[in-house]
Parts: sequence; structure tokens; C-alpha cells
Amino acid sequence: MSSFFSKTLSGLEPYVPGEQPAGVKYIKLNTNENPYPPCEAVVRAAESQAKQLHLYSDPDCRELIKAFCSVYGVDENEVIFTNGSDDILNFAFKAFCDSEHPAVFADITYGFYPVFAAVNCVPFETIPLKDDFTQDISSYIGVGKTVFIANPNAPTGIALKRSEIERIIESNPDNVVVVDEAYVDFGAESCLPLIKKYKNLLVTQTFSKSRSMAGARLGFGVACRELIADLNTIRFSTNPYNINRMTATCGVACLKNDAYTRENCEKIKKNRAYLEKNLAAMEFSFPPSMTNFVFAKHNCVSGEKVYLELKKRGILVRHFTGSRIADYNRITVGTREQCDSLINALKEIIQ
Ligand code: PMP
Repeated sequence: MSSFFSKTLSGLEPYVPGEQPAGVKYIKLNTNENPYPPCEAVVRAAESQAKQLHLYSDPDCRELIKAFCSVYGVDENEVIFTNGSDDILNFAFKAFCDSEHPAVFADITYGFYPVFAAVNCVPFETIPLKDDFTQDISSYIGVGKTVFIANPNAPTGIALKRSEIERIIESNPDNVVVVDEAYVDFGAESCLPLIKKYKNLLVTQTFSKSRSMAGARLGFGVACRELIADLNTIRFSTNPYNINRMTATCGVACLKNDAYTRENCEKIKKNRAYLEKNLAAMEFSFPPSMTNFVFAKHNCVSGEKVYLELKKRGILVRHFTGSRIADYNRITVGTREQCDSLINALKEIIQ
């Protein structure tokens, strides 16, 4: 650290993203990317912008918002686009948290939440997941803090019902409840239908997982117009051009080909069932996944060993070191062929 680094942030521990290896060709099952590439229309959309790169992108994302509203049936002032959903989560910490509205989230959840709290100097508390990794809903009822809840949760893959989240929203009318639905398209119930009913609900989603656009960086938030206006105040005070031309145009093409996204989600759900069946047969245990990953532990081989042995065999999964989850690996659901390579490697390892 240089002597110039902010004293306020001197203790900041940055988020560590999953490995993005250069050189060696791994089967990448470590960062929950979609194994299927974007559709042709999205590829053409990216190409169409190459000769326009001397011009700024539209800071109001008008085409994107129009395409979004026609698929999702919300009003144009009820949505905001950001550079991945990490961007909007960061904005939500800035906009809706302070010393009177500290943040609260689960002890085992998306690892970026404590980092966003720290970088924005927001106090936070964590609520432990139960032993089976399910959420303790009663602890969020009337908690009186800005709630961040990943639904389905990561890295566990477990989803709450919409009605359970609604109880949390209803019981905290003076605080915003942020529902991070990065993985919702793989089977969980979305809270999007609740945004017309509650002024304190922000739902965030991403094009990185179900929509095969992780590399383009596109996320969004849906909420009542007042919350979206607050988030735009933050956006226009940081980076009004946070969505570049190529990404915006790709987003429009992706929304116009929504059927392609839905088909891929169905394929991934089938591959997930296949992977889960095979993992169970090899004596792995895992919570029921509503996502494009499985959070699995073997009954006798350690999580670290599984991770290292898979890596030796050219397969990357995500291993966590936190005390309650050190025996687990988070395994992205890939194509059927990738699942088979993983299953064969695991058979060798546990023998
Ligand atoms: N929320 C959760 C729970 C995630 O796992 C991720 C991906 N790492 C994100 C949000 C952010 O994803 P992105 O910025 O690619 O939209």
C-alpha cells in the first residue's frame, strides 16, 4: 500500500473473483458462466457497433430500456441498466445505506456484499444461515436495516419462496430490501411482480448467467420510479456511460431473442438434474440447487483435495475457505459433455 492510499480504506480487503486462467485450456466450471455462447443476433449486434466506437453510448439506454419493457411489462422509469449487476449492487449500498440504515445479509452469501459495504463505509451485520444452509427468515422480519438477499443464494444454490421474501419486505417498510436475482432464471420465483406493490423493493438481475453475456457486463435493477431515480443519481455521479455501445446493442438483440435464453435455461436445468444424480451416486451431498451450479461436498474426500485433483485434470471449480464451507466446492453446470468429463474425473478422484 502506498503512503497515499486513503486511511479510511486502508483495511479494505478486495473481492477475489474466480480464476480466469490464461494459456492452459481448462473446462471452466468455477465462475457460473453459461456454457452456451450468445445467439447469432447478439454476435452480429456486437459487430455492428465496431465502426461507431468513436461515439459515446446513450447514457439513457433508450433502446435497451424500450426492449426490456416490452419483454418484462414494466414502465420505462422502473428500470436501470448497469455494468454487470455488481455495479447496481454497489450503487444500492451507496444510495440506500448509511449509519442509520446499516446493511444486513447472510453470513454465507455473495462475497461482494461485505466488500461493497466496506468500500462505501457502510456498517453491516450478518445473519447466520441455519446448519442446513437455509435462511433464518424470522431474523429478517422487522430487522430495521437495508436487507441484501441473494435469491437463490450463492454459493448454496438454495432459493426462498416469493411469499417468504414478501414477509421480509412488508415488515421493513422504512428500509430498502434488495433482492439479488442473479440466478433466478434457473428455476426460482422472481420478486419482479412485487415491485408495483412495494416502494421499498429493488430487484437486481444480470445478463451474465441465463443470458450468456458475462463478458459484455450488463446488469439491471427494477423498482418503483423513486428508487430508480435515486440509483440514477448515483450512476450519473459516477459513470453515466457505464453501458458501452456494443453491450447496449447486444442487450437489445438478446431481449429480442428471449426464446433462445429460455431454451438454454431448460438445457442447463436438465444438465443440473443429470449432474446431481451422478454426484449423489458418488456420495456427494449438496443442497437442492435452483441455480446453474451445485454446492457439493464429498462424504470422505476433503473439498480442497477435490478442487486440486480436478485442477490437475484440467477442470476448474470454485473452492471456498470459510470455516463453515471449507468442505464444499461450487461447481457450475456445464454442457452435457462438460458434466461427463467432470463426473469421470470425480470417479477417479474418489476411488
Ligand atoms: N450476485 C451474485 C449472487 C453473483 O454470484 C454474481 C456473480 N458473481 C453477481 C451478483 C454479479 O454478477 P455480474 O456482475 O456479472 O452481473
